[in-house]
Amino acid sequence: MSEIILIVEDEGKLAQVLVDYLCQAGYEAHCLHDGLTVVPWVQEHQPRLILLDLMLPGKGGLEICKEIRAFSSTPIIMITARVEEIDRLLGLELGADDYICKPFSPREVVARVKAVLRRGKGVEPQNDTGLILDESRYRAALHGINLDLTAVEFKLLTLLAANPGRIYGRQHLMDHIYPDQRIVSDRTIDSHIKKLRKKMAVVDPDKEFIHSLYGAGYKYERE
Ligand code: CA
Repeated sequence: MSEIILIVEDEGKLAQVLVDYLCQAGYEAHCLHDGLTVVPWVQEHQPRLILLDLMLPGKGGLEICKEIRAFSSTPIIMITARVEEIDRLLGLELGADDYICKPFSPREVVARVKAVLRRGKGVEPQNDTGLILDESRYRAALHGINLDLTAVEFKLLTLLAANPGRIYGRQHLMDHIYPDQRIVSDRTIDSHIKKLRKKMAVVDPDKEFIHSLYGAGYKYERE
C-alpha cells in the first residue's frame, strides 16, 4: 500500500486546499475530480486513505464506496454537504471509517485523517478501563488478567474499543473480521460478541463494556 491520500472532490479549489494542507502535514496527496475514474485508480495505486465526496459527476460517492469495499479495506472518509445526510449514510452501513460535513476546516480534515490512520495501526492501551490490547500477539488483558480471546474476538474488541461510543453495524463488523468472505451470516457476529462479553464479565462482572443497540449494532463504552 502506498502512502498517498486520495482526495475525490469535484470542486477544484476545495480539492486544492485539501491537497495543500495534507502535504503540509507530511502526506502525499492525489486528486480526482470525476467519480468514474476513482475505482480503477484505487485498484492501481492502493492509496493509504480516501477522502470521498458524496456528490460527484459520473458516479456518486455512495456507489464508489460500495465498490471499493468489495475489494479493499482502505480507510474511507466520506464528505457530505448536509449534516442530516450522515445519519442516513450510517444506516446504509457502507463501511466508511468516518464522515465529515461541509463546510469543514482543512485543519479538521487533517486531524480526522490522522485519527483514522492511527486507528488502523492499533489501539493504545485503554488504561482508564484496565483494558490492554496487544496487537502484535493478539492478546487482550483486563485488569491484568488475560482474556484468552480467539483471533476473531480480539479483532472485534480492538475495533469497538478504538472508538468508544461509536456504533458499529453488524455488516461493518463482519467486513472487518471476514474481509474476503461474503457468505457469513450476521448472526455469527452476535455469537462472537456474546462470547466476548462473557469472557470480559468473568474478569469484571460489574461493568458492561459492549452494548448492543437493537437494529443498529454494537458499541463499546468505557463507563
Ligand atoms: Ca461535490
